[in-house]
Amino acid sequence: MELGGRRSDNVIDERGRGIGLPVVGGGLGMAVLALVVYLLGGDPSAVTNMAPSAPQGAPAAPGAPDPQADFVSVVLADTEDTWTELFREHGRTYEDPQLVLFTGAVESACGFAQQAMGPFYCPRDHRVYIDLAFYRELRERFHAPGDFAQAYVIAHEVGHHVQALLGISDRVQSARQRAGEREANALSVKLELQADCFAGVWAFHADKARQILEQGDVEEALNAASAIGDDRLQKQSRGHVTPDSFTHGSSAQRVEWFQRGLKSGRIDQCDTFAAGRRT
Ligand SMILES: [Zn+2]
Repeated sequence: MELGGRRSDNVIDERGRGIGLPVVGGGLGMAVLALVVYLLGGDPSAVTNMAPSAPQGAPAAPGAPDPQADFVSVVLADTEDTWTELFREHGRTYEDPQLVLFTGAVESACGFAQQAMGPFYCPRDHRVYIDLAFYRELRERFHAPGDFAQAYVIAHEVGHHVQALLGISDRVQSARQRAGEREANALSVKLELQADCFAGVWAFHADKARQILEQGDVEEALNAASAIGDDRLQKQSRGHVTPDSFTHGSSAQRVEWFQRGLKSGRIDQCDTFAAGRRT
């Protein structure tokens, strides 16, 4: 993948902060403890400072090269340029999301999050959250190496931001509250597949404008899309698949919708909610 463009101003580096505990449960426990100390009139930083620092994924020393953070920043900038233009064509104004790099665990407007959950988007604060350790996992556990695969992950989260700006997330959220569990899950899958399709739309336009794609890149991204497909994840963790608990869609569905976006470059080709469509 060929990316040499500008860096985004919207990357917030929270790596190596006190809350970044790699131990499951540890970060939350520490945060609760800090809150208790605070409520008792003490200094909560005395508690959070006790947290072991996480050297892995910590920011590089000032001035030192930090290629992964740099890459994320370039990709984010590219999504900003692409979506700004696409929104303008539709008479709308795109608002840039922010992207938070964190280590281990992070506090968002949507709650406390662990790296184990993978990258996510919080519609309440319009921020994408990513622990760069996820990329290592993508390479090693899901066998999805390659820089375009990494870019795809960001583009998918930005796809959720686009859904928030277009009011789709809110509509789906209220529909989910009225629906039964099965229907609610189906709606979540459609939301996820649409984010995949939007990632494809980004790839189409970024390539048209800046020729970012190299031989093999699309295969990389599709490999990532299918590696992160819920059926694969469930097979790896439990040995069997339970379709009704899918929240991201099957590998085949994710590949199909990414391709739709990539081939058309059109937002209106990403209507995963259209009535009667098999998803
Ligand atoms: Zn998603």
